[in-house]
Amino acid sequence: MLSAIEAETKIRSLISPLSQRDPATTIEVVPLSQALGRILAQAISSDLAFPHWDNSAMDGYAVRYADVGQASTANPVSLAIVERIPAGQVPQRSLQPGETARIFTGSMLPPGADTIVPQEDVDAHEHHILVNAAPRQLGAFVRRQGEYYQSGDPLLKAGLRLSASDLGILAAAQCRQIPVYRSLRVGLFSTGNELVPLANPAPLAPGKLIDSNQVALEATLHSIGITPVLLGIVPDDPVVLQETIAAHLPHLDVLISSGGVSMGDYDYIDRILLGLGAEFAVRSVAVKPGKPLTVAKLPAQSGGTLYFGLPGNPVSALVSFWRFVQPALEALSGWVDLPQRRVTGYTTLPLQGDQKREVYLWGRVAWHPPQGEKPEGYWFTPASGSKSSGNLIHLSQVNALAVLPAGERSLAAGAPLSLWCLAVP
Ligand code: AMP
Ligand code: MG
Repeated sequence: MLSAIEAETKIRSLISPLSQRDPATTIEVVPLSQALGRILAQAISSDLAFPHWDNSAMDGYAVRYADVGQASTANPVSLAIVERIPAGQVPQRSLQPGETARIFTGSMLPPGADTIVPQEDVDAHEHHILVNAAPRQLGAFVRRQGEYYQSGDPLLKAGLRLSASDLGILAAAQCRQIPVYRSLRVGLFSTGNELVPLANPAPLAPGKLIDSNQVALEATLHSIGITPVLLGIVPDDPVVLQETIAAHLPHLDVLISSGGVSMGDYDYIDRILLGLGAEFAVRSVAVKPGKPLTVAKLPAQSGGTLYFGLPGNPVSALVSFWRFVQPALEALSGWVDLPQRRVTGYTTLPLQGDQKREVYLWGRVAWHPPQGEKPEGYWFTPASGSKSSGNLIHLSQVNALAVLPAGERSLAAGAPLSLWCLAVP
């Protein structure tokens, strides 16, 4: 059995990210309005400088520093107001010694001016101002052309996952069509003779249960920007399973199933993958929950698809997905600076570990200010209810997993520990 870290490393070694493949097959262009969350496939640069022109950072008066550098209450400097420059208007004249222009935040600086005096710092009259104090320096409150970005420099790097602020930057640079890596093609199915699709309106017969894994896994994929191909429920029948897997592999980057990877008489997935010539990276991992986990890569002639066979127990399926599948999908997508989801925190309640396996306890993390003896930081509270891997009910609102290394028998309340955050904090 592999440790979690060994399994993660082996999975990584199977992945060939979209960024390392033929760009003709991996890059598409989308309008900016659809680019949120997509992975930028090419570095972007702009012909524009930022700011585009010298402008004022304050409402006030544009001045020549030489005129007012010695100003004081004892020796106020009088300047004639020669122009008024609202934002968006081009100055009509050049500032001469003894002159000032009324100016506003974002207005273009007139030629000749080099400093802004905020309106709070002057006595304003109809045709002149009195400056009672020297500006703190030449260039005060001026935003210089190119101060943030020089035209032609790299603006955004390839491989970043486009955020809301990135979209603002691209818009400001007039980038309307954005090169991104294509979305991953991910197939999802469940296997088990006891499973019934949610869509089936009949009351549940004895021995049957709803295929909740497919619903939860589909939603989890959606939350990371992937719309999976739903392949439904496949019975515990080696022939049907083999046909389903073989038929869909060539069209997919990744195929994910839940159920049928344990050592039971009806667990066929590994045998089928073996028959298809798969290279196995993982067959079981020393973690709890989620010990049975199959990760394999199909041969190139079958599409080189990555296969993730998750355990069927609802908690195991989701924990395995969060811990092993999600980081793999993110690496495959071409995303370069992958998010680090581990933080150090404290546990509010005692936690029980395991001698042989790394334990992932599901619960909620919240940041707390200092409270008496308790330091400020991330505090983890395990979910209540049974710790059974079949107990999906107490997964409600879970946002973090506490990670207890193998051999860690128990942790006292208040002890520091490693947390795996499901959303990046
Ligand atoms: P398996 O991994 O196939 O041995 O299944 C382990 C447990 O998970 C069994 O109790 C199954 O009934 C349950 N299970 C398997 N697949 C699903 C599913 N798609 N949705 C909900 N429970 C499932
Ligand atoms: Mg089963």
